[in-house]
Amino acid sequence: MTAPSRPVDVLVIGGGQAGLAAGYYLRRAKADFVILDAQEEPGGAWRHAWPSLRLFSPAQYSSLPGRMMPSPNGGGCPGAEDVVAYLTDYERRYELPVVRPVRVRAVRRGDGHLAVETDKGTWPARQVISATGTWWRPYVPHYPGMGGFQGRQFHTASYRGPEPFRDQRVVVVGGGNSGAQILAEISTVAHTTWTTPRPPRLLPDEVDGRALFALATRRHRAALAGQTAPAIGDLGDIVAVPPVREARDRGALKAEPMFARITPDGVAWADGTELTCDAIIWCTGFRPALGHLAPLRLRGPGGVVPTEGTRAAGEPRLHLLGYGDWTGPASATLIGAARTAREAVAELLRGPSAVDIADSHRSLGCPSPAPMR
Ligand SMILES: Cc1cc2nc3c(=O)[nH]c(=O)nc-3n(C[C@H](O)[C@H](O)[C@H](O)COP(=O)(O)OP(=O)(O)OC[C@H]3O[C@@H](n4cnc5c(N)ncnc54)[C@H](O)[C@@H]3O)c2cc1C
Repeated sequence: MTAPSRPVDVLVIGGGQAGLAAGYYLRRAKADFVILDAQEEPGGAWRHAWPSLRLFSPAQYSSLPGRMMPSPNGGGCPGAEDVVAYLTDYERRYELPVVRPVRVRAVRRGDGHLAVETDKGTWPARQVISATGTWWRPYVPHYPGMGGFQGRQFHTASYRGPEPFRDQRVVVVGGGNSGAQILAEISTVAHTTWTTPRPPRLLPDEVDGRALFALATRRHRAALAGQTAPAIGDLGDIVAVPPVREARDRGALKAEPMFARITPDGVAWADGTELTCDAIIWCTGFRPALGHLAPLRLRGPGGVVPTEGTRAAGEPRLHLLGYGDWTGPASATLIGAARTAREAVAELLRGPSAVDIADSHRSLGCPSPAPMR
């Protein structure tokens, strides 16, 4: 499919779970829309996750609108490959108009529309949903000496499984879920050291993604009402999925404070203690993949785009979906993406007012755009 010359009503950037959830509601509303996805095949980030990754929640709490994710054989929480199969089936079942591979390079303000520049031409769109996820921007903090390390360094994004680390000395960095899950499986074959900026906190065994979603929703509602509610960190951070429990029970989840620098053959703490290691695995998270929005000059503090709901505060024709709690309660999860997408699409179909658009342009010092249809 080539880029059309006439503007599409809604263009969704990204065909992962957030983009597909938006597609479901757009399809149901009989909207004129298209989804552009950079990958060759469906599945979003799940296609790249390590094969043993398991969801935090059972299938019935990890589903997009309209269709329940099937429970995996043998029960339990679905794995990454189950989610890929589910998303592949989902976009076919609802005949979502996903065009791939198309990489969006930039979104600019055009004449009465947004111009979405891709490696396959420029698509004009009356409104845009950005749903590009975070997997594509791994974050690694800087430590003195890291360039001189002679072992191997990985990030969660490139981790595929424990076998390459068999019998090696491995430092796993990061006290979140990916750090705990990767440590849990590597510690069955390697000599591991876990370093975390603050002591890691495991959620109680009975707390899974359902409770996290309920808490994220309470926090979001409280924030809207100007009140405060407990942060997820007040309960703990790490979901005790079965491999993590098993590692905890055999004593493998003991964490050390962060080292101060990296030496050619390991890591060193401020008190002079040194540890030799063959590999460092950085389980230090991701940042929103928002480079394509740079021409709109919307970024606020912390590298995120200020939003009202999912609508960009500085560009009312743009919505952001799925990046984290700042785009809706737990919106980086399947269940959260589904709920946020419903609200975003409802608002988007009402459309931004010409006054909103003119205001946002004035605040950026741009000339007023031509009125929308
Ligand atoms: C360790 C770990 C455990 C997790 N566990 C769970 C869990 O239990 N339950 C749960 O619900 N979630 C879980 N998640 C979260 C989940 O994996 C991601 O948050 C989710 O994949 C985000 O979906 P998305 O649609 O926002 O982004 P993605 O899945 O990243 O999809 C974005 C799509 O946009 C495309 N794209 C990116 N940039 C461009 C561009 N410029 N142009 C065109 N296309 C582009 C990408 O190719 C991709 O296909 C977990 C994540 C991690 C790391």
